[in-house]
Amino acid sequence: MKARWQGLILFLPVPVVLYLITTLALGMWPSLALGAALMLTHRLYARRYALRWAERRCLWCGRVGEGRSLEPITVAEPVGETFWRVCSGEHRKKLAAFLGWASRHRLFLKAGIAGTLLLYLVAVPLAGYGKLGTLTTVDLSYGFRLLIALTVLPLGWLGTGSGAGGELKVPFPVHIQALIGTVAVVWLFRIVGLVWLVSAAFHFLGG
Ligand SMILES: [Zn+2]
Repeated sequence: MKARWQGLILFLPVPVVLYLITTLALGMWPSLALGAALMLTHRLYARRYALRWAERRCLWCGRVGEGRSLEPITVAEPVGETFWRVCSGEHRKKLAAFLGWASRHRLFLKAGIAGTLLLYLVAVPLAGYGKLGTLTTVDLSYGFRLLIALTVLPLGWLGTGSGAGGELKVPFPVHIQALIGTVAVVWLFRIVGLVWLVSAAFHFLGG
């Protein structure tokens, strides 16, 4: 239980960053600066924590494996190979399918997540100073949500049922999903993705 709560607390900066950069709640520059600072420092402690538990927690469900059989699984992350554990059976199958889908769609995910984020962080100050014509920072925020949703919805809904096969060479570090369990992240992609897609549709089509 301890790992669950600690992992959840260490995951919290992620939604905080998303909230800050999409709402600019503290004003443009303070929100972007704090968001970027949280993003850049997160891996320093969150990754170390996730790796410390990697041998003892299931990367799929996040449970500590006392008494259950945990199998080793190797993932090639952008920074190198890391070694995790996963419950045997269904959890292993789903995790391998999800990471396998991400591996096969590396470029799509990189462009959709990292590309969108980069574009957004550059465009927001420009819109803030009125350099993008009639485009406002609010339009950009919904554009950000739309592109991220279009990226994580297929990953969330198609990934886990896609069947394993091939190497697990993912375009993102997996320590973030290790904090709360990959299954929780999959459901966040599915639900937040849908909410963001619908809200962006209302913004752009609602007039
Ligand atoms: Zn499990």
